[in-house]
Amino acid sequence: MARKKIVAGNWKMNMTPSQAVALCNELKDLVKSDEVDVVYCVPAVDIVPVVEAVKGSNVAVGAENMYFEEKGAYTGEISAAMLVDAGVKYVIIGHSERRDYFKEDDVLLNKKVKKAFEAGLTPILCCGETLEQREMGITLDWIRMQIKSDLVDVTAEQVASMVIAYEPIWAIGTGKTATTEQAQEVCKAIRECVAEVYDAATAEAVRIQYGGSVNAGNAAELFAQPDIDGGLVGGASLKADFGKIVNYK
Ligand code: PEP
Repeated sequence: MARKKIVAGNWKMNMTPSQAVALCNELKDLVKSDEVDVVYCVPAVDIVPVVEAVKGSNVAVGAENMYFEEKGAYTGEISAAMLVDAGVKYVIIGHSERRDYFKEDDVLLNKKVKKAFEAGLTPILCCGETLEQREMGITLDWIRMQIKSDLVDVTAEQVASMVIAYEPIWAIGTGKTATTEQAQEVCKAIRECVAEVYDAATAEAVRIQYGGSVNAGNAAELFAQPDIDGGLVGGASLKADFGKIVNYK
């Protein structure tokens, strides 16, 4: 069965709650699609108003982060159960900004992925190489290492239902998009890695996004690649262009 494309916006640390609701209203008609799953991954404080604002539409809400512990003395953190209760369906795990600025490593991210599944959330697990790693020729080895470490003890059934986002760090927020060939090469390698660790059916089912300066002009070519099942979109998810990315055909 063909995989359904999924386009997710990553709002990062943008949009106050009132701005978030205004953006949802602005995008409402533009992001309508039967063919593509649409997700807004929003700051924690925006979750409740955004869930309310997209009610009855085709948009699902995601979080940008969560903690792996059930509850308790973890000041400033948000649990998976809190997200679920608030109406969240997806959660970004391991975005390169969290790996870099907040020193989140693969051991921690593996715990987060498992907790997300346990709670009934769909993880959007990010991976990606630095420019230095790409120039050293170790991109595919690095990505495979990230995927294998982050998915330790995650079942085939869970992997089949999740989303993996390939985001070359040098392409995020820089206006520099990976070439279609570069993006396809790595997304294919991720699928092969899933086939190696799990099986062919799991690899065939898992949805793999490309992220890194996706915009209304390059989405169609990127999403037409056989192993690219949509995009994780930062900057362009905050404007009307996001509707063009969702309706890229
Ligand atoms: C991202 O933050 O996940 C991202 C891909 O950002 P941008 O689209 O702005 O490069």
